[in-house]
Amino acid sequence: MAQKYVYAFGGGSAEGGADMKDLLGGKGANLAEMTRLGIPVPPGFTIDTEACIKFFVSGGSYPGGMWKQVEEHLAEVERLTDKKFGEAKNPLLVSVRSGSRVSMPGMMDTVLNLGLNDETVEGLAKKAGDARFAYDSYRRFVTMFGDVVLGVPHSEFEKILEEQKEKQGAKLDTELSADSLKAIAEAGKRLVEERTGKPFPDEPIEQLKLAINAVFNSWYNERAKTYRAKYGIPEDWGTAVNVQVMVFGNTGSNSGTGVAFTRDPATGANEFYGEYLMNAQGEDVVAGIRTPEEISKLAEQMPDAYEQLLDIRERLEKHYRDMQDVEFTIEHGKLYMLQTRSGKRTGAAAIKVAVDMVESGMITKDEAMLRVEPDHIEQMLHRGIDPNEQLNVIAKGLPASPGAAVGGIVFTANDAIAAKEAGRKVVLVRAETSPEDVGGMIASEGILTARGGMTSHAAVVARGMGKCCVAGVSALVIDEEKRTLTVGGLVLKEADVITLDGANGLVATGAAKLVDPEMSGDFGKFMGWVDEIRKLGVRTNADTPRDSKRARDFGAEGIGLTRTEHMFFEADRLPAMREMILAEDEKGRRAALAKLLPMQREDFIGIFRAMDGLPVTIRLLDPPLHEFLPSHDSDIEALANDMGVSFEHLRNKVEELREMNPMLGHRGCRLGISMPEITEMQATAIFEAACKVKKEGVQVFPEVMVPLIGKVEELENQKKVIDKAAKEVLAKEGIAVGYMVGTMIEIPRACLVADKVAEVAEFFSFGTNDLTQMTFGYSRDDAGRFIADYLKMGILPDDPFQSIDVEGVGDMVRMGVERGRSTNPKLKIGICGEHGGEPRSVEFCHKVGMDYVSCSPFRVPVARLAAAQAVVKFDK
Ligand code: PEP
Ligand code: MG
Repeated sequence: MAQKYVYAFGGGSAEGGADMKDLLGGKGANLAEMTRLGIPVPPGFTIDTEACIKFFVSGGSYPGGMWKQVEEHLAEVERLTDKKFGEAKNPLLVSVRSGSRVSMPGMMDTVLNLGLNDETVEGLAKKAGDARFAYDSYRRFVTMFGDVVLGVPHSEFEKILEEQKEKQGAKLDTELSADSLKAIAEAGKRLVEERTGKPFPDEPIEQLKLAINAVFNSWYNERAKTYRAKYGIPEDWGTAVNVQVMVFGNTGSNSGTGVAFTRDPATGANEFYGEYLMNAQGEDVVAGIRTPEEISKLAEQMPDAYEQLLDIRERLEKHYRDMQDVEFTIEHGKLYMLQTRSGKRTGAAAIKVAVDMVESGMITKDEAMLRVEPDHIEQMLHRGIDPNEQLNVIAKGLPASPGAAVGGIVFTANDAIAAKEAGRKVVLVRAETSPEDVGGMIASEGILTARGGMTSHAAVVARGMGKCCVAGVSALVIDEEKRTLTVGGLVLKEADVITLDGANGLVATGAAKLVDPEMSGDFGKFMGWVDEIRKLGVRTNADTPRDSKRARDFGAEGIGLTRTEHMFFEADRLPAMREMILAEDEKGRRAALAKLLPMQREDFIGIFRAMDGLPVTIRLLDPPLHEFLPSHDSDIEALANDMGVSFEHLRNKVEELREMNPMLGHRGCRLGISMPEITEMQATAIFEAACKVKKEGVQVFPEVMVPLIGKVEELENQKKVIDKAAKEVLAKEGIAVGYMVGTMIEIPRACLVADKVAEVAEFFSFGTNDLTQMTFGYSRDDAGRFIADYLKMGILPDDPFQSIDVEGVGDMVRMGVERGRSTNPKLKIGICGEHGGEPRSVEFCHKVGMDYVSCSPFRVPVARLAAAQAVVKFDK
């Protein structure tokens, strides 16, 4: 017997079911499932994904037996409907739709009303007693078939439609007469013949074959390929094809069509939600030509159909145990369901639906973990753009830090600070940001940069602040002198108001309405379950007491990275930091360090207090020096005055320190090794702070972290300085403080020799920003320029600075974990690169057996959920 490729649904029996999504695609499997549940589905059949794959393998022919099965199933549909495909008197019309395992919206349009030609359209008109309806269906068919199957651009059919509207003096499509619609269909067929050199296919069986082929082939169209690349959908899945009897919602006042959700997809409320249009086809609801009615109104207009819908709503939810999104059509008072699938929802709705379903016993807590997406959590934490807003988008960049911002444009940090003082809300627009801009960033609502990637200065700092940032918008031309911002032909001036959508990387003109995050009780309850399930610890990257506190409120269980150099970005500290960097000798450096020490100590005291009872990892200074050097002459002059040296002298010194390749230069532990007094000052500040808070009754667990080591000797060198400072401070203060000394693992060599390093280190924290930079050899600051191309060409599946490159960088990490634990089984291991807050990377960290991840405060809840999801996905 030939292999089975075609599966019936509707008409009282189904050959498939919901568990056959791989073979039948989501749509086909659910149509079969609804049939099994006794829900009215127009009869039809699904051609499976295996037929699609074989079609490609054979170079475009159907696998043996498939076509015969199509004919048999078509005959059964004819029998069920008492209509005949291609028969002039009583024609059967079908829709042909794609349907892959997971929904791929927009991959291919649908062909409706297939089976129409100059004869069957007459039969349809007579049977329905409505010529206008029949010719409207016909012209829609010619357009869809011509566009989707035969490749004639849709716009050319639109032209025909517009011409005819003008001829008849009609404003709306709905005003077109039967004769006009007939003329449009005829003109459409002529257009197809002109463009393709062949007459429009009138034979319904030929139409069906061509439509099936087109759906199969759509698997490899550009849109579908791009979509698959973005969402990691395998190429070899193929698509199923659903052929289904047409039911018409546009056959009079007791017909209609609509879409509905079993619960409110915006709030999650357990209320039936949807809209419908009487006397209309599905595409009219979507097209927005007429305003649809709220679903509850159907109770008055068609009480029977409404009652039946409510019943179906309940049955579908009970059966699928999730919120469903359905499409339905009512033809002459009879209700048909055309589709059901899991409904897309907002973050608030996802959480409410999950909590309600757990509490009503419909799903388990484990299942609830997978019902909320990390993006949903993210949405809950930031102000966002009112979903009803229509943005006037002028450019797109990287969604570097989520949230939204509205404000007048300013071009310098000082202007931002002045505006803030004057009570004005501003958006700081820069080519890229540097430490000098931090004050301005704090004063602005959001940050927009023309250059830089997801780990650029602007992005990292903005995320840390929880401030919206759109980075790397290459279409922007910024003229700081003239204070203009040009995008294409549009010139914006200072104080012009713009809106940033940090979640989607959009820049728009005007002020959009923003809405506050809603941290409802359900959110807290859900996150409680998350914490019960996850095994990975979640810490935060925080540099200030304020951020530490915020992160703790978001559930952080300690600090995984304090970047001490960030503490010197602020305007009142920058000069002392620069003085230290620019000092001529140890004496000069010690003088500057003496100014920095009390500042550092105060920071650490604040952080230790905010993190009472939790571990705090403090990393020794790792300043890419170029980020701290003054670049403008005016800055050099001001600093020279402060330092009491000449402008020329200082400028020469700055030049001397300038590195060709600062990211590979004199940074990290290299600095502390050649100038041990820096490490000594920092360790002293850490331990003095620890002693002070401990005397106050705070439980303090400092973990001192050495950055950028590649050789164990580097760690040994720095550990000696740290231990010595600890000993001295603790002896002086007369108090014991337990502490650990560990290291960042962020240079490939450190992964290779992790076994040796772990003999000295008490903990490892993977710095996957630098590890990615150095494993790929891609500069963190410049890679944005080509990564976009690489993604488009499929050379990279994801930006490796956002989601860990499991194959390469991930293997480095795995090796580092294994080799480290081989000599030190108690080694505590975490990650503090930006990946620590990215859900797929968090899953990876769970799989390689890390103890914790650390990420910016606003990502802490996201990481908690991702960690719980990893347990449900991989450990159960
Ligand atoms: C890293 O390299 O991953 C890291 C956390 O350090 P930084 O980003 O400060 O270089
Ligand atoms: Mg680093």
